[in-house]
Amino acid sequence: MHKGTGASAGIGIGKVVIVEEKELVIKRETIADAVTEIQRFKGALETSMKQTEELAADLARRVGEKEAEILNGHIMLLSDPMLTGEIETMITSDKVNSEFAIETVCTNYANVFASMGDELMQQRATDMRDIKTRMQKVLMGVESVDIAALPEGSVILAKDLTPSMTAGINPANVTGIVTELGGRTSHSAILARALEIPAVVALTGILSEVKNGDVLVLDGTDGTVLVDPEDSILAEYQGKRAAFLKEKKELEQYIGKPSVTKDGVHVEIVANIGKPEDVDKVLQYDGEGVGLFRTEFLFMDRDAMPTEEEQFEAYKKVAVAMDGKPVIIRTLDIGGDKEIPYMGLEKDENPFLGYRAVRFCLDRKDDVYRPQLRALLRASAFGNIKIMIPLVTCIDEYRQVKALVEEIKEELTEKGYAFNKDIPLGIMVETAAASLIADIFAKEVDFFSIGTNDLTQYTMSVDRGNDKISYLYSTFNPAVLRSIKRIISCAREEGIMVGMCGEAASDPMMIPLLLAFGLNEFSMSPSAILRARKMITEYSTEELQAVADQAMSFATTTEVENFMREFINQ
Ligand code: PEP
Ligand code: MG
Repeated sequence: MHKGTGASAGIGIGKVVIVEEKELVIKRETIADAVTEIQRFKGALETSMKQTEELAADLARRVGEKEAEILNGHIMLLSDPMLTGEIETMITSDKVNSEFAIETVCTNYANVFASMGDELMQQRATDMRDIKTRMQKVLMGVESVDIAALPEGSVILAKDLTPSMTAGINPANVTGIVTELGGRTSHSAILARALEIPAVVALTGILSEVKNGDVLVLDGTDGTVLVDPEDSILAEYQGKRAAFLKEKKELEQYIGKPSVTKDGVHVEIVANIGKPEDVDKVLQYDGEGVGLFRTEFLFMDRDAMPTEEEQFEAYKKVAVAMDGKPVIIRTLDIGGDKEIPYMGLEKDENPFLGYRAVRFCLDRKDDVYRPQLRALLRASAFGNIKIMIPLVTCIDEYRQVKALVEEIKEELTEKGYAFNKDIPLGIMVETAAASLIADIFAKEVDFFSIGTNDLTQYTMSVDRGNDKISYLYSTFNPAVLRSIKRIISCAREEGIMVGMCGEAASDPMMIPLLLAFGLNEFSMSPSAILRARKMITEYSTEELQAVADQAMSFATTTEVENFMREFINQ
């Protein structure tokens, strides 16, 4: 058995097709006439651009605009005058052939990006190599592997799949993808998820252990890969595959159904998003709103802050698409594990306890917070926007943001802008301090959303990204559970809405407890919505009280987890 990183859920079973891009041999050749060579380069550039545009249009039609964005990024690289200028300069000054100049210039850029270490830059490096090969192939007349014409039941195996290759895949013929390189958030992984093809990435060495035609089984949820398994194992995975597909299909019947328990308690199941385009999936899976828009993603992967206008357009787009349904937009939550180079944040000694989120924003009112809050208020004229503040620890922080919002409202009124004068202002309850004074906060703020990802980290004093101590990181720890229960009851006491947007909100073992505690709103990744709705309709909150009481009586995480596992499986 091999273990990689699960990158796209589902079970794939099929025959291996190794997709190897033929290694292009790029020779340095001296050319006689630079002007003619530059014409040749420009011709290849144009053809590459056209090919990529066609692929992007095809992908946008088959899958979605968002997925085509990756290829539009390639088009941008191809049209970058700095890049093409450097290639032309090299052709002229070194009197070399286009293939060689492209090789040198693009590889240089790719290496610089790759050496920067972070995942985003690795992706840029892959994109750069992708366009390099595309241009060279055009120049050399080499046909690309026709990935669209693979036989039905193929499992693609590759060192790495470039976005262009992934984009060409026909999901009707490909039952799985396995790569040696890449990560969960690499563009190919994102595309695999969008195409809903099971995928395992980062499986080092797999290519040397399989050959074309081998039977291969992969589990895109846990990263398992089996080569030529015994019949009994194969049958087991065929069963798993059938169950996965059956469940997925069955869950579709929950589209359009209310999220209501057997005893008539209505809750909201809403979505976590990071980009405006994500609303497509929210609508596809019938989300009842957006419970968390992590706006920091608008600030990432670029060289400068998005302007007020750009932000306004992004927030407005989500508000309009959700058509009156609630859209909770969280103000910038950077620092900690989320770095944004151009913001000029110094490395903190203890990033998770440092200068971040609302602390940073209140210190950078003029250049960061005001423009964002102004954009949010202006967008509130176009839908049901609520503003949420991250990492709040004390009332003063809330009051300062509130005062700033009031100031901006006056300014907007003077300038004649439309906005929602009663826009709700709520907080993430995700620090131990906020939890301990949840009763005080509940009297002052408009709503709560419990951020269990951080609440667990700050309650247990355990870095959420540190593998060595991850055994401590559980929302089922009695300390965390008590905190969650109390936050919910403080909110209910004051009659404010209380939601949860941490990962725990979609955890099947947690949902019964949250229903018993009285949570109003569950926010999760769009693809988890229908499963959560199904669960919710199967319980009665009254019956769950006894379950919750018992869960709360245990002293250890393991006891709680075992009890809840048994409960949901019964
Ligand atoms: C959380 O902390 O639970 C949360 C939802 O926010 P993030 O994961 O972005 O910190
Ligand atoms: Mg958080």
